[in-house]
Amino acid sequence: MKILVVEDEKLLVKGIKFNLEQEGYQVITAFDGEEAVNLAHDDSIDLILLDLMLPKMDGFTACRTIRGFSNVPIIMLTAKSEDIDKILGLEYGADDYITKPFNIREVTARIKAILRRVNPTPKGDKSKVLVSGDITLDYNFRRASVGDRVVELTSKEFDLLELFLKNPGKVYTRENLLDSAWGIGYPSEERTIDVHMRRLREKIEENPAEPKYLKTKWGVGYYYKKD
Ligand code: CA
Repeated sequence: MKILVVEDEKLLVKGIKFNLEQEGYQVITAFDGEEAVNLAHDDSIDLILLDLMLPKMDGFTACRTIRGFSNVPIIMLTAKSEDIDKILGLEYGADDYITKPFNIREVTARIKAILRRVNPTPKGDKSKVLVSGDITLDYNFRRASVGDRVVELTSKEFDLLELFLKNPGKVYTRENLLDSAWGIGYPSEERTIDVHMRRLREKIEENPAEPKYLKTKWGVGYYYKKD
């Protein structure tokens, strides 16, 4: 597994690199946003750890630029928790974020969790799909199709959609969804779920304001209505 670490504080990079290598990951590093974007074209990278404050090109711009050509999982490092909606939102499309200062064990735990989700399918199982009504999930490409429209998904969106498709009609609270897609005890906020649900609807639904598939159960949470 290859991880690209993007951060201009060299000591921090050294610490992260050391710890990730201890965990068996191959680590490459970039110290500014432009370098990050250039390196991100390497298809063999499995995950990017991307700092927000970077020289030449900031982390937001780098994230958005990378999303323009790649669905590689991106974890943003941020000192500002109020940017969460923006980071996870449609415009930037990061998969997760970690607020500074962080514990290095937290970083490795998050990386492991995301990589487990992104690569759950054993090799050789090349054509695995899940079909539910109009929606098909493609495990190989980690994307969906709605009718004949192909929809690219981030790893988190894929996980959420999979959960819904496997359990039509079941109502999930925000807490349920956090536990399923992020892991139990994940220090996150329930509004993170709303951000992801909004984004998922924008991709899946013909009219996100009046969702046909991903419905809101007022005061409770969300459920999937199989057509
Ligand atoms: Ca920085």
